[in-house]
Amino acid sequence: MTYIFDPHPQPSLAIEKQTERFPIRRIFCVGRNYADHAREMGHDDREPPFFFSKPADSLVENGATLPYPSFTQNLHYEAELVVAIGKRADAVTEADAADHIFGYAAGNDLTRRDLQAQAKTAGRPWDMAKGFDRSAVVGPIHRVSQIGHLSQGAIRLTKNGEVMQDGDISDMIWSVPEIISYLSGLVTLEPGDLIMTGTPAGVGPLGAGDTAIVSIDALPDLTVTIGQPT
Ligand code: MN
Repeated sequence: MTYIFDPHPQPSLAIEKQTERFPIRRIFCVGRNYADHAREMGHDDREPPFFFSKPADSLVENGATLPYPSFTQNLHYEAELVVAIGKRADAVTEADAADHIFGYAAGNDLTRRDLQAQAKTAGRPWDMAKGFDRSAVVGPIHRVSQIGHLSQGAIRLTKNGEVMQDGDISDMIWSVPEIISYLSGLVTLEPGDLIMTGTPAGVGPLGAGDTAIVSIDALPDLTVTIGQPT
């Protein structure tokens, strides 16, 4: 097999205390998965979960400085727990879902909120609001065998040292096993798939020069800094 140009590098994430990296296949995201955030966006508590995606190569690792993205005046942070799938999941039950998790990471679902609002109004897709270049900030994966399963614990985001989001993993509307069960009915999940599980209330803007840190209990802080537009 030969290609007309070199295939793009395989996106991957570091794994805590392991040399080998975790190759990324797809990045799924859950919308509106904390009641307080759903309310701040104008919705009721327990609508069925819905999903959107980011390209695997939109990944950014801990400590990066990103150029302020094009086509937005309202770039937002969203602190999220990220689940890394380690075993094929094809319409699995909630009871079986945990067996398919390789590990967990901290994430920041960067969002062009102005483009998302336009898309909502026009009934158009969210891809350019959510799946733009360098939009998926994800920290190193911590294996379930080392830290167990994360079903509760603080999830916070600080911007330049000020707490902007302060929630708890246990406040998710749809739990991680429920998300995996539901999503694995829509598509077959494979090793390398990531799921960003939604954000608590307090979302807001990031500007050039701002640093956002996501802190989730049992995981190391995830830092990203926004630079000048390119
Ligand atoms: Mn999100």
